[in-house]
Amino acid sequence: MKKIAVLAGDGIGPEIMAQALKVLTALKLPLEFEEALVGGVAYAAFGHPLPAEVVELAKKSDAVLFGAVGDFKYDSLPRHLRPEQAILGLRKALGLFVNLRPAICYPELTAASSLKPELVSGLDLLLVRELTGDVYFGQPRGKRISPDGAFAGAEEGFDTMRYAVPEVERIAHVAFKAAMGKHLVSVDKANVLETSQVWRDTMIKVSKEYPEVTLEHMYVDNAAMQLVKAPKKIDVMVTGNLFGDILSDEAAMLTGSIGMLASAALNEKGQGLFEPSHGSAPDIAGKNIANPLAQILSAAMMLRYSLGMEEAAVRIENAVKKVLAQGYRTGDIRSEGCKLVSCSEMGDAVVAAL
Ligand code: NAD
Repeated sequence: MKKIAVLAGDGIGPEIMAQALKVLTALKLPLEFEEALVGGVAYAAFGHPLPAEVVELAKKSDAVLFGAVGDFKYDSLPRHLRPEQAILGLRKALGLFVNLRPAICYPELTAASSLKPELVSGLDLLLVRELTGDVYFGQPRGKRISPDGAFAGAEEGFDTMRYAVPEVERIAHVAFKAAMGKHLVSVDKANVLETSQVWRDTMIKVSKEYPEVTLEHMYVDNAAMQLVKAPKKIDVMVTGNLFGDILSDEAAMLTGSIGMLASAALNEKGQGLFEPSHGSAPDIAGKNIANPLAQILSAAMMLRYSLGMEEAAVRIENAVKKVLAQGYRTGDIRSEGCKLVSCSEMGDAVVAAL
């Protein structure tokens, strides 16, 4: 029996989570669910967006299925008490060092993309981003009086970009495994940055263990261009924290449908947190109109990446493709002639398609 911590959170979180649980339950898998409050609802009940008991629950679970957190009514709280701290706290507590963001453009939804349909129809790209290193966390950092250079004596800010070889190795293994039998693009800026040269050398070293994967290196400026020029040529893209932050949003937007995008963050034990890429959508919460497919696809990622249940993951993904082909749409992805359904009806349609 695998234990899943179910953290639905705020806004549309509980509505879309109910649909994901419906789908998982219909598969009759050996899963045990334990629900808990996080985000604004946890702050309202316990005075903290990530109570210590929830951290303990997450640690002892095989995976965390997360909804969304946040509400504008909490925007005036001190930063450490804001709902979004729940995700940052869980990332830290579980040591989640890699973020997986698939960007899939279903043929029926190409109209939602800002790119031409022929460029994105059938797009199935996975972006693998390192989450805990790079210039975001490198020391030293700070503000000081510039000690040298053209602006010596002026106030300056500085950060440090650094990656250790084992740090690159562990994400390389995740990326190569995800790219088995396919093409892996490693993104860096090795023509300018020493950190990137270490990144590139390490990718080449690790690639020797994965002869089934073809490795290509791409400078980040070119990668930004290729993502909008010929995204379908890329199967899996791996990169550091800073470049990944930017490129993952670019890749996500190729599909145009925020309600369809799942994501995962994993640690070295394969434990993970799985959540939709969108937020808590307070503007439509409580109306049963949200699109639950990103949450349902996050559950599929959980089965694949943390629980080793590939077959069940594929069943869910195929069921999602089927409901789209059958014309079912929530409001955010509606088109002419579609069958407009509510959040719960979409969940029912996926269960029926399993
Ligand atoms: P958002 O993603 O919640 O919403 C942006 C727009 O997309 C809204 O119009 C919303 O109605 C729509 N939308 C999002 N998900 C949808 C879905 N499943 N179905 C249909 N429509 C959907 O972003 P926001 O409005 O900038 O932020 C709202 C709150 O969410 C804020 O408090 C923010 O901090 C938080 N947030 C949380 C996460 C997270 O939990 N990981 C991520 C981003 C934002």
